[in-house]
Amino acid sequence: MNEVIVLFDGYSKQLDDETMDANCSCTLIKGQKNIIVDTMTAWDRERLVEALHKQNLDPLDIHYVVCTHSHSDHIGNNNLFINAEHIVGQCVQSGTKFYEKRIKDGKYKLCEGVTVIATPGHTAQDVSVLVDVETKDGKLVYTITGDLFEKEEDIEDPSIWKALGTIELQEVQKAMRSHVLDLANIIIPGHGPMFPVTEAMKLQSKRVD
Ligand SMILES: [Zn+2]
Repeated sequence: MNEVIVLFDGYSKQLDDETMDANCSCTLIKGQKNIIVDTMTAWDRERLVEALHKQNLDPLDIHYVVCTHSHSDHIGNNNLFINAEHIVGQCVQSGTKFYEKRIKDGKYKLCEGVTVIATPGHTAQDVSVLVDVETKDGKLVYTITGDLFEKEEDIEDPSIWKALGTIELQEVQKAMRSHVLDLANIIIPGHGPMFPVTEAMKLQSKRVD
């Protein structure tokens, strides 16, 4: 049985023409394995350890670190988790060993109900994490997407994600966003609170713009 706990909601705001204040969503998955998705900036070390302690976990209890992509605000505390395998984008590493084939056909199952999938767009190497969660109303799929979705508002206003992504990959990102909306019931975006997926969002994402 998997539990998804957002330790910190991501956010981003433009301060002026040249400066953005941002930090990523940081999510803990508790199930057969303990998994942390995106480790925020190097300046968040103490509060991340504190947040884990509140969940009765030490950084050494984490089995997998997944960084949705390798931007500095998503990888800042990876070295807290030295008992874990690290999946940074589509690069899988443990110590000095690199496992080039663990992400097969764009997928890597970490444990029952938790799968990493390749979702290029924001960068060419982006991944998302799909988590099956049993609820009293049946199974829900939580998807931790990193910056494939910046925040809920970028569905209504695609200029938000387009401004932050890789221009050459915009069409890929658009297609991946639509694909993830079809798979997910709930999205935890890179820089905003989690939100439920609606039918209107799926339609919106397929619109030609
Ligand atoms: Zn980010």
